[in-house]
Amino acid sequence: MPSQDAGLSFVCLGTGRGATTVYNGEPSSAVALRMDGHDVLLVDIGFGVVRACQKWLGAIPDTILVTHNHSDHAAELPVVLAAEAASARRLRVAAEPTVGARLKAHRLHELESTGDPLTTFCQWVDTPAGQAWPLTSRLSLCLLRARHSEPCFGFVASLDGEPILSYGGDSAADTDYYDQLFAAPNVILDARATGNDEHADFEMVAAYIATRPAHRVWITGYGRHDQAPAHMTAIHPGDTITLGSRAA
Ligand SMILES: [Zn+2]
Repeated sequence: MPSQDAGLSFVCLGTGRGATTVYNGEPSSAVALRMDGHDVLLVDIGFGVVRACQKWLGAIPDTILVTHNHSDHAAELPVVLAAEAASARRLRVAAEPTVGARLKAHRLHELESTGDPLTTFCQWVDTPAGQAWPLTSRLSLCLLRARHSEPCFGFVASLDGEPILSYGGDSAADTDYYDQLFAAPNVILDARATGNDEHADFEMVAAYIATRPAHRVWITGYGRHDQAPAHMTAIHPGDTITLGSRAA
């Protein structure tokens, strides 16, 4: 039986972690959500992600969600806003309000030297956790707090009101958090070979996934291509995953 095409897919733009781009050149963790062939959202814009957008999407999507203010998730934001505004393009930037406050005060401080207000460069959208943010007429996102050193928010995306894809962002292994993410049948999780207080390791995530055999799960945030887990489904830059109907 062919599954119903939900019209939603995602494109992996990078899987790098903190130092990956700086030392190795591979892009930081990011994905784009593609709805009916249109790239409706860029999730994170850390080091190397603009080049990845140019390579795999052809352009930077109009709307960017920033999960948190770490360089591998937000570093290229000020440059992109300034460059696009210079081309008369004002992007839309979405973030949970506490994340947004940090981005405005620290990440985007360099734009103040222009003398122009932030509204010159972008349209800012506050996306509080736990509330549906309508991205398109059919697709909405609900942000969830991850367990990370910096305030960080993943999300559950719903299509026509039904959860279809979750994105964990940077997070330590946290069963309560994962339980919320796994409301959707498709899940993208951060994990690396050696975990710590702010990042899950492969074994912890594998143990959780084993309890959820009906879900499709992809691993990102592991670092370089050669650091991908061998025993789990890792995504790689350029991968385009088409999401079918919800799991039965
Ligand atoms: Zn982080």
